[in-house]
Amino acid sequence: MIDEIKKKVKYNQQCPYIATICRHMLDFDFEKLCSVTLSNLNVYACLICGKYYQGKSINTQAYIHSLEQDHHLFMNLQNTKIYCLPDNYEVVDHSLEDIQYNLDPKFNNLKELDDNIEESRALDGTTFLPGFVGLNNLSKSDYFNVVMQALCRIKPLRNFMIFLQFQKSATEPFDYNCLLSQRFSELTRKIWNPRNYKGHVSPHELLQAVTLKSNKQFKIGQQSDPMHLIIWFLDNLKKELLHINKINTIISDCFQGELQYEWYKPLKNAIGYQPIPIIEQKSFFYLSLDLPSTPLQKDGSQKALIPSISIQELIKKYDGFTNTDSADGRRRYTITKFPKYMIIHMKRFIKNNFFMEKNPTIVTFPLNDLDLSQCLNLEQQNVKYNLIANICHEGTAKVGIYKIHVKNEANNQWFQIQDLHKQNI
Ligand SMILES: [Zn+2]
Repeated sequence: MIDEIKKKVKYNQQCPYIATICRHMLDFDFEKLCSVTLSNLNVYACLICGKYYQGKSINTQAYIHSLEQDHHLFMNLQNTKIYCLPDNYEVVDHSLEDIQYNLDPKFNNLKELDDNIEESRALDGTTFLPGFVGLNNLSKSDYFNVVMQALCRIKPLRNFMIFLQFQKSATEPFDYNCLLSQRFSELTRKIWNPRNYKGHVSPHELLQAVTLKSNKQFKIGQQSDPMHLIIWFLDNLKKELLHINKINTIISDCFQGELQYEWYKPLKNAIGYQPIPIIEQKSFFYLSLDLPSTPLQKDGSQKALIPSISIQELIKKYDGFTNTDSADGRRRYTITKFPKYMIIHMKRFIKNNFFMEKNPTIVTFPLNDLDLSQCLNLEQQNVKYNLIANICHEGTAKVGIYKIHVKNEANNQWFQIQDLHKQNI
């Protein structure tokens, strides 16, 4: 039995086709479908032209391709084993390890990633900084890219996703119950891959998983609000991770906070609120801040002035004294537990009676040491946050683009990334 297996494995000296491999043709970011049958079962990448074909035994697509095109080396996209066809023997050689690594990057020392300021070189000679690479826009998917870029900055989540293990099935290409986590883990590892063949990554497979699991709420070709995506994504990722491991708490550990609020219901048939509030508690994964609805001021020259406000002022909504009024009453919020990473949402898009409006108010904020103990009058606690990512929208309520500012904490260098375009700021 052992001898039989050995016969099917050849080493470099014995496989004459190793030199025919074209690494610049290889791209493992796209959906693993056979280019002929469109099946996702048992798919191999041709290491000469980069195309995907199903099967490797006689008369399968990969087998036929090897005869028709004289291309002989194929890698199984599920287990990364490399075979020579049509002879059908496995090729084991250290010089092919980089190809297997690019399909399925693995990491030992994450501290090296965090301390890194050295750029890597792609096959085309361009340089890139691992972790700070552009993502392809797959048609109006800028909202998706900025969310994934932001989530990749959260170190405990990133580290967890990098090391997350999945049981691979020999027959099924993926498990629907952990599809998002699997694809997000792959994308995270590709974004941080220091040996990437390209200086950018396509989020194609994760976006397809999101489209499938969200019932097309988020999809290619239709721009959505990144905040809606973050809420949906974290909620569904949390469910999947609980499915994989019932005691998993990574999403809550990173983002979950608690707040308490006093709710004064409106008086019936009179103006005003009931004097005794209902006290309620709830957990949160993000805080929304309301921008002042001040109309554009005009100065003496009739030039429109855009109002400006500090984040410290806006966050007073949660100081336990400030009133937040809505149709169902008045609330006063107090944060009772602060999350490790706080997601803050400035509500810029408001739907009026006729159309969507964008509030252009400029919000000023410190890059480091946003002191919430001071803004919220916390006497006992010292609560400070540093900014690590900032998603912004450029344009009008009808037409606009999303981009993100992210920080390399190794040297405090900030980058602006808009899909594939990255620049220092
Ligand atoms: Zn080929």
